[in-house]
Amino acid sequence: MKARIDALVRPEIRALKAYHVPEAAGLIKLDAMENPYGWPDALKAEWLETLRAVELNRYPDPQGEDLQQAIRAAMEIPEEMGLLLGNGSDELIQMIALTVAQSGRKVLSVDPGFVMYRMIGCFAGLDYLGVPLEAEDFSLDLDAMLEAIEREQPALVYLAYPNNPTGNRFDADDMVRIIEMAPGLVIVDEAYAPFTDCSFMRLLGDWENLLVMRTVSKMGLAGLRLGYLVGPKPWLEEIDKVRLPYNINVLTQVSAAFALKHKAVLDEQTQSIRVERGHLMEGLGRLPGIHAYPSEANFILTRMPEGQADAIFAGLKDRKILVKNLNGTHPLLKDCLRLTVGTPEENAALLAALGALLG
Ligand code: PMP
Repeated sequence: MKARIDALVRPEIRALKAYHVPEAAGLIKLDAMENPYGWPDALKAEWLETLRAVELNRYPDPQGEDLQQAIRAAMEIPEEMGLLLGNGSDELIQMIALTVAQSGRKVLSVDPGFVMYRMIGCFAGLDYLGVPLEAEDFSLDLDAMLEAIEREQPALVYLAYPNNPTGNRFDADDMVRIIEMAPGLVIVDEAYAPFTDCSFMRLLGDWENLLVMRTVSKMGLAGLRLGYLVGPKPWLEEIDKVRLPYNINVLTQVSAAFALKHKAVLDEQTQSIRVERGHLMEGLGRLPGIHAYPSEANFILTRMPEGQADAIFAGLKDRKILVKNLNGTHPLLKDCLRLTVGTPEENAALLAALGALLG
C-alpha cells in the first residue's frame, strides 16, 4: 500500500501532518481562543424552542438568506457590499484559494501568522511565502512586505488584524500601502474583531482588491462553524462559484441567526473577556521572567524564561490547564506560549499555576 500511496498522493500533501487538535477533556481549555462563557438558561431554552421548527429531511436554504439578513442587521456591513458565508472562515480561505489557484501562483502573508493561509494554499497548489514580522514587537516589516509583493506578485495577501498568534494589530497605514501595492486580492482577516476597536470594514470599496473576512467563532459561537466574507460583489460572485452546495447546515443557519438576534448577550461576554484580558496582563506582569506581548485579541502571547516553555507547558497540563505551546514552531516564537483569556476563575488558576512553576 505504501508504494501506491507514495505514487498517488501529491508530495506536498504527503509531507504535511493533519491538523492536530489536542485532547482537552477535563482540562481548563485556554488553547483555542474560544469564548469561555455559555448562555443563560432562559436563552438556551428559547434557542432550543426555535430548533423545534427545523426539519432535517430537507437541504438547508442554499444561500442562507435569513442568516445573511441577520448578519447584515447585527454586524454593520456596508449595504452595497456582497456577503458570502463559509463553514468557518477556514472554508472561505479555501474557497478564495480555489478561485485563483493556478500553477506558480503565490499566496503571501506574515510569519508568524495564521497557519491555515499556508496549509490551504498548499492544498490548492499555491506557493506560500511568509514575510517575517519584526522580531521586537511583531509589527509589519513594511519594506520587506512591499519588496516581496513587488518581486513575487502574489495572487493573494492575507493580513490578520489583529494577528494570530501574536495578538497585535498592524499599523493601518502600513496595511494601506500593502493594499495599494498588491496586484491581487488583499484579505483582511478580522477574526478577532470583537476584541479591538479597529476594522477595515468601513473602508471596503476604497480599493477594488480589498476583502474583509470575519468569523463568529471568537465571539462565542465556535461550535457553529460560520465565517463570512465581505467585499465588492463582482469578487464574491466569482468566489461563490467554488462554494459547495449547502455549505452552511440548517442547524447552523437557524442557531446563528437566533444568536445574532441576541447579540447583546455575546457582546457582554466579549466585553468581559476584554476586561479580563487586562487583568490577566497585569497578573502576568507580576510573574518573574515572563514577557507578555500587548494584545488586542482574546489571547496573550507570552515568552517564558529561556528554555523553559516546554516544561511550563507540561507543568500547566499536569495542573489540568491546556494552553498552546508555540515553542519550536517558528524562530520568532522561541520559548513562547499562547494563553487564551478565560473566565476570571480560569485566569486565576492559570496565574497561580504559572507562579508555582516559575517560583
Ligand atoms: N483567522 C484567524 C486569524 C484565526 O486565528 C482563526 C482561528 N484560529 C481563523 C481565521 C479561523 O476561524 P474559523 O473558526 O471561522 O474557521
